[in-house]
Amino acid sequence: MAQVDLAQPELVTRPEFYPWQTLPRQQIARQYRQDKLPHALLLCGQADLGKRGFASAMAQLLLCRAPVAEKACGECPECALIGAGTHPDLRIVQPEAPSKQIKIDQIRALIEWSGHTAQRNGLKIAIIHPAETMNNATSNALLKCLEEPAGSTLMMLVTRQPARLLPTIRSRCQRVNFALPSPELVLPWLAERLPDNQNLALLLNIAGGAPLAVLNHHDEQYLERRQVIAKSLAALLTAESSAAEAYSRLAADEPVMVVNLMLEVVADALRWQVSEVDGTVKNQDLAGNVKVIGQSVSKDFLFRLLDRLMQEARQLSSTSNPSPQLLLEALLDAVSHRQLEVF
Ligand SMILES: [Zn+2]
Repeated sequence: MAQVDLAQPELVTRPEFYPWQTLPRQQIARQYRQDKLPHALLLCGQADLGKRGFASAMAQLLLCRAPVAEKACGECPECALIGAGTHPDLRIVQPEAPSKQIKIDQIRALIEWSGHTAQRNGLKIAIIHPAETMNNATSNALLKCLEEPAGSTLMMLVTRQPARLLPTIRSRCQRVNFALPSPELVLPWLAERLPDNQNLALLLNIAGGAPLAVLNHHDEQYLERRQVIAKSLAALLTAESSAAEAYSRLAADEPVMVVNLMLEVVADALRWQVSEVDGTVKNQDLAGNVKVIGQSVSKDFLFRLLDRLMQEARQLSSTSNPSPQLLLEALLDAVSHRQLEVF
């Protein structure tokens, strides 16, 4: 590993809090100042709100020697060590590829680390992310650590699915909820980062209001691919094209994106059928194809398709699915033949 030169500020990175995280930042910083920091925090909220980034920024703020206005200075030795990824009192525990789970050995190593005295300023911080990727045995190992906390360790568990954690883990943590920020707060922030993008309001709407999802999917191609997927589904359902034609159009897309978007389109078509008002369609950029599907496919079939798509989405996100492409091909075939038994 390269030697870290503490005198070079350009080596230092400073994770930033996002503008919609002011309240949790102030709350935790205040608890720290009052010496009332709990041993464990559970950072909860849906995906793409920057919870993991918040945990990093908070860790650096709490370890920094010279914070200014509740922000880490980015220049002190602690900030330099964090920037270099070598701070001895900061631990990040996350699944190590190719595993999608946090392993029990990682938690055992964490427990051993937390038993040692802090090497720098007295506080030690561990970030566990995503916390829902711990299985029961791993969670129970962590539980022991939360039940008998070592004096100066703060654990930050980050999760988008708190219900999947053991109740005993949840009850040992102080919960910090991250709510969906208002578009008024997010749109100017996005406009600063993507100044040439004319579709920010649409993209934020598509992303369900989650700001970081827009940063991940802001290119023209993304909107185009959405149109292709919705149109392919409509053509398949109106028997305008065959399963093989649909597959050839969609083969280059991520199957998980195709299935999730089809889910949205079918849910929208059902909404449209109920009201026959275009404004009830959530994915406004796809309203044309949603309407075609709503007009030409029965409610009963759409509900069965919704079930089947949810099943496919679960399979695609599971760890054991060997071939997402084959799964998509079989799905398109089943839709074209109107054979949607959920197995
Ligand atoms: Zn600092």
